[in-house]
Amino acid sequence: MHDCAVIGGGPAGLTAAIYLARYHLSVAVFDDDTSRAASIPMSHNHAGFPDGINGRDLLNRMRTQALRHGVDIRAEKVTELHRTNNGFRVLSHEPLDVRSVLLATGVVNRRPAISAELHDTAVSAGLVRYCPVCDGFEITDKPIAVIGSGSRAFKEVVFLRSYTKNLTLVSDVAEHGLSAEEAARLEELGVAVRTGPVEFVSADGGAIEITARGQRFSFAAVYPALGSDVRSHLAEMVGAELSDEGCVTVDAHQRTTVVGLYAAGDVVIGLDQISNAMGQAGVAATSIRNDLCDSMPLIRP
Ligand SMILES: Cc1cc2nc3c(=O)[nH]c(=O)nc-3n(C[C@H](O)[C@H](O)[C@H](O)COP(=O)(O)OP(=O)(O)OC[C@H]3O[C@@H](n4cnc5c(N)ncnc54)[C@H](O)[C@@H]3O)c2cc1C
Repeated sequence: MHDCAVIGGGPAGLTAAIYLARYHLSVAVFDDDTSRAASIPMSHNHAGFPDGINGRDLLNRMRTQALRHGVDIRAEKVTELHRTNNGFRVLSHEPLDVRSVLLATGVVNRRPAISAELHDTAVSAGLVRYCPVCDGFEITDKPIAVIGSGSRAFKEVVFLRSYTKNLTLVSDVAEHGLSAEEAARLEELGVAVRTGPVEFVSADGGAIEITARGQRFSFAAVYPALGSDVRSHLAEMVGAELSDEGCVTVDAHQRTTVVGLYAAGDVVIGLDQISNAMGQAGVAATSIRNDLCDSMPLIRP
């Protein structure tokens, strides 16, 4: 029986696995290779990498470190999670019984209506961006569009206004969905508002071209502000409490409301950043170690 199953091999899951293995605990990581970090063309805000680091490279370094500590990494999707008398049963290619589980399954960004091929090309060229906190700095003073509607898009535009005055809000649907106050505030801020639906035309040569209601626009980058889907269904399956947004609720030690189940990273409400995911993972792994130790002291033979 493994001491812990970590579900998710992104920055949160891999950090936790390294800590757990270094506590001399047996750990299996399940990962179906859809980390948001894998789509980062170059991160410039992750401390310790003055020239930036590609997301896939960062994940590979973390995987190498985990493997060197004997972590059992399985390229498998977990389909079900069940409570047992002394822990959990993880269902994947084959069932695995474990004493504890860390959920580090992250979130999935909702995409605009764009072909997968054009989307991936645009993301890797930094022409479609999902995280102003991460890379707003890189678009300073450039012509930028936010794709979305209502308050979510409004907030994103206001956030980005501290980076550039050349901003357009293009609604993904026929109505912009802004309140009168929001529309007035955007006018004050000099933000142009267009209504969709939006069609993505091309993404090359340092520009992304879209059409909205037949008019063609070119931007240095677009930020979809369409929200994200939280991958918290496994927590729900064992009865853990979720927030209104669907994030897993945790205490200051990353414990969920289900004994033996912990959560870290984007799946938990808070700042969706690598540094935060890694910090929460360190806390979670240490809580797991201490809680397991309470029920069965960890003593070196
Ligand atoms: C384009 C882009 C650029 C970004 N740039 C930056 C940046 O510069 N700096 C920064 O700090 N942050 C950045 N972020 C955010 C950052 O990627 C996330 O905050 C970070 O990846 C969260 O880590 P995580 O481990 O919680 O989740 P993820 O990295 O999303 O990892 C979750 C993992 O869980 C796995 N998983 C999910 N469900 C299952 C299941 N049922 N079974 C098995 N495996 C499962 C997935 O395959 C995935 O590998 C960016 C995000 C995007 C999309």
